Amino acid sequence: MTAQEITQTVLVTGASSGIGQGIATAFGRKKANVVVNYYSDEEGANHTLDMIREAGGHGFVCKADVSKEDDVISMFAQTINEFGSLDVLINNAGIQKDSSFSSMTIEQWNKVISTNLTGHFLCAREAIKHFEATQRSKREGNAAGNIIFISSVHDIIPWAGHANYASSKGGILMLMKSLALEVAPKKIRVNSISPGAIATDINDEVWKDEEKKKELLKLIPYRRIGQPDDIGKVAIWLASAESDYITGTTIYVDGGMTLYPGFLENG
Ligand code: NAD
Repeated sequence: MTAQEITQTVLVTGASSGIGQGIATAFGRKKANVVVNYYSDEEGANHTLDMIREAGGHGFVCKADVSKEDDVISMFAQTINEFGSLDVLINNAGIQKDSSFSSMTIEQWNKVISTNLTGHFLCAREAIKHFEATQRSKREGNAAGNIIFISSVHDIIPWAGHANYASSKGGILMLMKSLALEVAPKKIRVNSISPGAIATDINDEVWKDEEKKKELLKLIPYRRIGQPDDIGKVAIWLASAESDYITGTTIYVDGGMTLYPGFLENG
């Protein structure tokens, strides 16, 4: 059996909708075992699981708030209990609580940081504990474990009115790199995918409104809004042995949004 044919077990946080659903379904097409984590939308999570099964994969839905340590520990225990091991963690769960800076409440700040940054830390820590304990590098051509953070172009693009969100994503950048450095000698890989504008619930008030959509497209040199599957396809590759020499890197999947689009015609 080659490295590519090994069935992967993958845990995707926030997989009841949007990008998480797209990634979970893409792994379903690879016949993977997928843990579909959700926060409150059980129906959405079950729909994701249906799509995974239709595509030939396996899985189960698992309710957990990634910002709660006990929930996260329990979710990993259920994963190991069901599938015996974990190969890939996709740290995807994330929220926005937008506000001008002077009006931002401590609740808005804490909620975003605890979900987008602390939640990613807690899940990564449990995954690393498992990877270290099982030392799964025995399998030729495969890493001993793989973590992918779903960050954002706002880990490097400042965003007025979204200081909590941009701070959480900027935090992920150094969390990802520091962790990647620490665990690389153990053959554990850690990377980020930073999406640009992907049509999901998080930004539907923009892409469902023709005027706002037109404005948004000006920020995307490739002139289309991304779809969850654009991220799913990259996640599959980044979790595979095809990308085995990549760790500590961010892949921007953004139709060129990080290329300073304002300079397209005004250089
Ligand atoms: P979405 O709202 O559809 O998905 C977010 C998911 O996170 C939801 O399923 C939600 O239930 C889950 N979630 C929220 N709080 C949680 C918690 N405490 N515990 C567990 N799950 C929780 O939006 P999306 O666009 O699919 O966002 C997914 C990720 O992609 C986020 O991290 C977001 O910041 C990032 N992202 C999205 C875009 C975009 O344009 N859509 C761009 C850049 C980055």
